Amino acid sequence: MRGPGLPPGARGGSGIPPLRTGLGFAPLRHAVGARLVNRGWRSAGGFWQAWAMSMDGELQKHYALLLGIGSPWEVKTVDLKLLEKQVVIELGWQWGAAAKCPECGGECSIHDSAPERTWRHLDTMQFTTLIRARTPRSACPQHGVKTMQVPWAVPQGRFTLLFERFAVDVLLASASVSQACELLAIGWDTAHEMMRRAVERGLTRRQLEGLKYLGMDEKSFRRGQSYITLLTDWEESRVLDVVAERTTQAAGQLWQTLTPVQKQTVAAVAVDMWEPFIKTIEAQVPDAAIVHDKFHVSKYLGEAVDKVRRQEHKELLAQGDETLKGSRQLWLYNPQHFSTDQAQAFAALKDLHLKVARAWAAKELFSKFWAYQQAGWARRFFKDWFGWVSRSRLKPMVAVAQLLKRHLPNLLTYLKHQITNAVTEGLNSKIQSLKSAARGFRNFQNYRTRILFFCGKLDLYPL
Ligand SMILES: [Zn+2]
Repeated sequence: MRGPGLPPGARGGSGIPPLRTGLGFAPLRHAVGARLVNRGWRSAGGFWQAWAMSMDGELQKHYALLLGIGSPWEVKTVDLKLLEKQVVIELGWQWGAAAKCPECGGECSIHDSAPERTWRHLDTMQFTTLIRARTPRSACPQHGVKTMQVPWAVPQGRFTLLFERFAVDVLLASASVSQACELLAIGWDTAHEMMRRAVERGLTRRQLEGLKYLGMDEKSFRRGQSYITLLTDWEESRVLDVVAERTTQAAGQLWQTLTPVQKQTVAAVAVDMWEPFIKTIEAQVPDAAIVHDKFHVSKYLGEAVDKVRRQEHKELLAQGDETLKGSRQLWLYNPQHFSTDQAQAFAALKDLHLKVARAWAAKELFSKFWAYQQAGWARRFFKDWFGWVSRSRLKPMVAVAQLLKRHLPNLLTYLKHQITNAVTEGLNSKIQSLKSAARGFRNFQNYRTRILFFCGKLDLYPL
């Protein structure tokens, strides 16, 4: 039972020491790691022993209270290992008490006890605190011999519930998982296993009733080599699930997160103009509106403006003209966020009859589309805008205009539902920070666990 999370000296599960009924304090005990301590205690003479005897009962009461245990469990010994900076608490079962079958909860007789195990508990004043106990095994007439459940840990867990609860808080508050590992003195694998269990718990408890607005979006994973697809809950600003790839199959798999009944309440899904996603939304939530939102449209228009700039800059440079040098950001930023210098530089450029200036103006003009309240007026606006861009002969802009024309019905849905993937984008920076720490990621599952742990708004606690 010794794993990366247990400090040296922790042991459990090996050998069955004789059951002790006395409440003797640590100094004269057999514990291997305590030998040096024992020498110190002996040399200090009877004083320490007397102190220990008087503290004995108090410490046991104190720890019983801290652990929240009560009869028939009791604190038998508290072993303070000064040099190892450890507190080892031995818990015991009052053997007269009836056992409880972990399957049916029925009272039954005790068969024997399981080998001793060790759990790590919350530190006591920077002393690693370990709990040791031999758990009785019940003999249920119906379910046979089973190891009973202990009130301080989940079955198979190597940590107490309180430690695991604290670890969840530390992980959520830490800048990185490695920082949390350091603070908790646990290994990376242990931390990840805790996160996996926490997410599993959270997913079972999660309520998915009454979802109204969802978002479906892709993110690059491992520096653009591959993609993941996210399903987000727009109103709660949480990630519902993540799958690898951005194919029709992957997106279809993502929808299995929701039951048919849960899908029925979905009114609209914000999504990019990406065929595999569109297809699965049409198939899985046929009554929901598809909304190609502001955010994605503005991204396409921005990219087109940039293409026009690059091309024009190249043409100008060939004639020795450096007008557009260093102007990339000016065409991409929102003018409202310009500094005074930037605003002046931009004002001068805008009036130079450049192609990029026309492209930029077309992009800016399109933002009016989103302000219409009636589809008829928005459609008319689009027709004018489309005509103007088509006549501009700016190829990248014309290409985006044609894309938008093909998807116009699902642009107009925005006027009714007003959702954008900006929520997903808010989560994006969080996911981005997980990705930047992703060098050690072994596989997609670990990445999914992290995303759901930090962005799933799940109830992660063990209690
Ligand atoms: Zn039973």
